[in-house]
Amino acid sequence: MIQEKPKSAYMEVFTPFSDEDISNIVMLKRVFECAQGDKDFAKAFAAGKFSDEQIARQKQIGVTFDLQELALCWTDDEFQSELLLCMENDDYSPPETLQTKLKEYPLLGLWLRFLSRKNRLYRATRRNIFRVPKCPPFDAWRWRRVLAARSELGYFGHYIDFPILAFELGDGCSVGCWFCAFSTQKLKTNLDYERYGAFFRDIAEGCVSLFGKHAAAMALLYYGTEPHDNPNYLDFIKDFKKVTGYATCTSTAMPLDADWLRSLIRFYREESQPWPRLSVLSKDMMNKIHDLYAPDELRDVELLMQMRENERRKVSGGRILSEHQGMKEREPGAYLDDIVPQGSIACVSGFLINTVRRDIQIVSPCYTCERWPYGYRVYDKAEFKDASDFPDVVRALIDRNMPAHPPRDAAARFRDDLLYKPTDDGFDLISPNQIHHFTGGAVHTALGNLIAQGDLTYDQLDDKLSEGGNPLLAGMAVNHLFDGGFMDELYSESR
Ligand code: SF4
Repeated sequence: MIQEKPKSAYMEVFTPFSDEDISNIVMLKRVFECAQGDKDFAKAFAAGKFSDEQIARQKQIGVTFDLQELALCWTDDEFQSELLLCMENDDYSPPETLQTKLKEYPLLGLWLRFLSRKNRLYRATRRNIFRVPKCPPFDAWRWRRVLAARSELGYFGHYIDFPILAFELGDGCSVGCWFCAFSTQKLKTNLDYERYGAFFRDIAEGCVSLFGKHAAAMALLYYGTEPHDNPNYLDFIKDFKKVTGYATCTSTAMPLDADWLRSLIRFYREESQPWPRLSVLSKDMMNKIHDLYAPDELRDVELLMQMRENERRKVSGGRILSEHQGMKEREPGAYLDDIVPQGSIACVSGFLINTVRRDIQIVSPCYTCERWPYGYRVYDKAEFKDASDFPDVVRALIDRNMPAHPPRDAAARFRDDLLYKPTDDGFDLISPNQIHHFTGGAVHTALGNLIAQGDLTYDQLDDKLSEGGNPLLAGMAVNHLFDGGFMDELYSESR
């Protein structure tokens, strides 16, 4: 049993449960992982008919209860729909009819209570998108990007916590996943810890001075890179924690290096954080994970089933790019006819820093398309020489790209994902996932048409709107579009 030091918000999830409950929870987690990652087991699970081999396999990987103790999963429709509800509602309690049934299936009652607590915590985290008060221009820009991402990505946009920084500790990735949405090239080199550890710590200090400790901690130490590639990944994580006070998260597709993964699990368990997360690339890999690690070791470790045959659809970006238009290609009245596929796996709204190439890109999630094949827009980029000029380069990027108000001499254009449609008293803007209505008669009709032209600066737009109209109302309408994240903010030399 790994020692831990409670209590973080995450550890509160376990507060009401006894040791025996927790040992059942980790076994239940394992059974549901098999039902997700193994097609044959999923079939058997749906029918409640398991082969001797499947039963023996469950025992072998540490599941000691009888699978028939979960029979409600395949015999009872009410249980199946409640399983979804318990994950979505803050004050979930099973209806009386189900409570009666659960008396005979206490393991499933336990699973519902656990999922409900865990998902309540995750929902609360998602609702509270942190802000960056130490740097108001960046904070306002990032908030516009959060609104834009939610408009473009719909439901999925509300599942992103929008970290502000990602540091790549190498150039490229050695894994080469077939679905890589960032289409990362082969690993060329890593940031050497012996030589550049101090450089990295100074960069982290620079981020604290720019954004404050709390916001700087909202970072990843990988993006189009694989944590396992850098042999000192954990040292970098620990150093970053020393500077910012927080253990940043880890997602890895290399779960079979047991010494390495155990060191990560130990680190996050000491921090009481629900990491690392594992990308599971095949059924064979899932089986090896279950053989290597005991159920309790993976208590806080989520397995993300990424196998080719898995029903969970991959984001069609990067290496498997194919463009989807979502609602933009649907007729009025048919907008909600079908779900729009997840549009991005990106999350960072801020600065993507490659510590080897020493470049910085301003990025934010968007709907994946030919122009933005990795699911994020690149707003601007710059290079830095060393840790001493790093803060100045970031500051210059902020000054150039993050105005508090619409920049007077820049082109006033709609965001590039938006389809403009004039209506009787205004206009609609249609993103891949959402229809935004702007109504209000004369101001909006003129405003929409002029912006859709795409060749006016904000100053020229103001002039045109003031001719015969109410300049105050027109100005407010433009600001509303800008603050709501509807306007194009890509940097261009000519703007
Ligand atoms: S998905 Fe991650 S691990 Fe896989 S190739 Fe891309 S960057 Fe590497």
